[in-house]
Amino acid sequence: MPDDLYQRYMAAHRAQRAHTDACTTCTVTDRCSDGQRVYDRFVRLQDAYLAQQRKRRG
Ligand SMILES: [Zn+2]
Repeated sequence: MPDDLYQRYMAAHRAQRAHTDACTTCTVTDRCSDGQRVYDRFVRLQDAYLAQQRKRRG
């Protein structure tokens, strides 16, 4: 069974990377509103994924 959370985490990571590559406004320290949204989503899913991994390891 595919790990849905991992898939969403990876998709969010790709979306964030794609936005950063394509966007001329975003920098490392300053993000446009779209960039902030994809970044927030990525961070949220990363936190959830890492928390799940920690739980699984016990
Ligand atoms: Zn941007």
